[in-house]
Amino acid sequence: MKYCTNCVMPNTKPGVWLDERGFCNACRTKEVKAKIDWDQRFKDLELIVEDIKKANHPFYDCIVAVSGGKDSWYQAAILAEHFGLKVLCVTLGAHLPTTEGIENLNNMINDLNVDHMKITIKPSTFRKIRKKCFLRQGEPNWAEHSAMFSSVVNTALVYEVPLVVWGEDIAFEFGGLQHGDSKPSALGIDKNDLLKEKTILDWLDDDISERDVFFYKYPDYRKLKDAGVQSIYLGHFVKWYGRKNYDFVKERGFTGRRAGPLPGNYLNYDNIDEKLCEINIWLKYMKFGFWRATDQTCYDIWNDQLSREEAVKIVNGLQDQLPLNDFEDFLEFHDLSEAEFWKTAESFRNLDIWKKCGEKWVLKNPLK
Ligand SMILES: [Zn+2]
Repeated sequence: MKYCTNCVMPNTKPGVWLDERGFCNACRTKEVKAKIDWDQRFKDLELIVEDIKKANHPFYDCIVAVSGGKDSWYQAAILAEHFGLKVLCVTLGAHLPTTEGIENLNNMINDLNVDHMKITIKPSTFRKIRKKCFLRQGEPNWAEHSAMFSSVVNTALVYEVPLVVWGEDIAFEFGGLQHGDSKPSALGIDKNDLLKEKTILDWLDDDISERDVFFYKYPDYRKLKDAGVQSIYLGHFVKWYGRKNYDFVKERGFTGRRAGPLPGNYLNYDNIDEKLCEINIWLKYMKFGFWRATDQTCYDIWNDQLSREEAVKIVNGLQDQLPLNDFEDFLEFHDLSEAEFWKTAESFRNLDIWKKCGEKWVLKNPLK
């Protein structure tokens, strides 16, 4: 386990490699982003929008997947207000939403004054898939990531909407398995780092049938092309920075977590709309030796808001906190006992990077 010399990302993150300077993928992306002609990129987006406007689509011009978070609110505002497209906002409903999450989503729809569709996937199937994803790969949120990408794109097909707009390409912005330059098309989003090579069919068993999982099944690429559905990353055309999006939406009714950052977090506005994702993120600590504090401080380093030295202090001060805020809800939702939870979590501990020091587990190579 080695750390980037420019930010605090370790090379244990899947797909990350450090170059001769010790820079990670995202730090190299920062250099690429600095050289991009963003005015030209924005003009490229204007051309896509013009074509869509000319075609006079019967229902909607574009779909934006929204959670009520800062990024999706910003995306929908650009499409609906700046470009004047007829936007349909689509939400994959959170099964355990937070108070702030519910408020933010309501405020967002009122603020943007757009049509909004909420898809709620069948709870019993969702629980079963999440539990399997937790037990087998320590990644329960695979289930909603799969359902979110697939349900939104399926909605575009059913309602004949020509454009689906996502935020940033996570592999390009944050470094990950899919190398390469920023690309406009998000059609392959079902193969991104959140889903990897798995599809919903990998989770079917006697207890879940294919008829239960329509919203988790990503449409065939050929079908999408034939129907004229384009899917793009807004982050390819507009220089992406979450904190800037936060500043934009907080003036319009978005609220961060009122009780302050969650355990292990340094920001109070990141992924605050539902209660099931923190443990998913924390499991990265067992597998790869980093989680929220690293992700969040890196993001500020990449955008020149924080020094590496400050980040080291923040990460070392936060990362051993446990994600216990919604722990009881997590256990109840998956019908797990506390003992089962910890046994499973421990089974994902990566012994290449962790060692026992007395009673306490510590990283063999701590961040310095
Ligand atoms: Zn880096």
